[in-house]
Amino acid sequence: MRDERFVLASHNRAKLAEMRDILGELGIRVISQAEAGVDVEPEETGATFEENALIKARAVMEASGLPAVADDSGLMVDALGGAPGVYSARYGGGHDRTDAQRNALLLKNLENEEHRRAKFVSVIAVAWPDGREITARGEVHGEIAREERGANGFGYDPLFLLPDGRHMAELSSEEKNSISHRGNALRELKRILTELE
Ligand code: IMP
Repeated sequence: MRDERFVLASHNRAKLAEMRDILGELGIRVISQAEAGVDVEPEETGATFEENALIKARAVMEASGLPAVADDSGLMVDALGGAPGVYSARYGGGHDRTDAQRNALLLKNLENEEHRRAKFVSVIAVAWPDGREITARGEVHGEIAREERGANGFGYDPLFLLPDGRHMAELSSEEKNSISHRGNALRELKRILTELE
């Protein structure tokens, strides 16, 4: 068992709990920015999920002097050339739009489109003070449905049609974690960290 602390860049409590569970199994304690006495939120200026996750992990590592972990995620739609991609949270404008508005825009942009393949992507980055960096990527593949279904999850989940015919928003959180991009990235991160031990 290692005795390491990672500071989580995100202010999202659900992500903190999720990271604590998975990394706790490796003897890594995940602490919040507040617990580390830092408060940074760098601009996500990267062109890829990897770049954005690393920008966030580096900024928190530099501010805290501790290893830091950050994630970046989004939806990529084939017929839209990979959009909304790194702009998923601000699709169609700023962060002030609602999930419902972003989903309506996505449906409109795919109105006459037969080819509806899409994927969710999640990348988790860790940056250490000695300059080491790793990234772990997870994906889940599906299609953009023609109407929303389901009340669980968030974001684009009601429109994301899985190969089994269910929409992502119809899954319980346990079911979603077992197949989701974020779950897959967390499992990949765990695998990489175990190999580094
Ligand atoms: P972030 O990585 O927390 O910045 O998320 C980026 C954006 O991608 C979110 O605001 C959502 O619009 C979208 N997104 C990421 N993961 C999911 C998911 O699991 N379900 C639905 N939308 C997601």
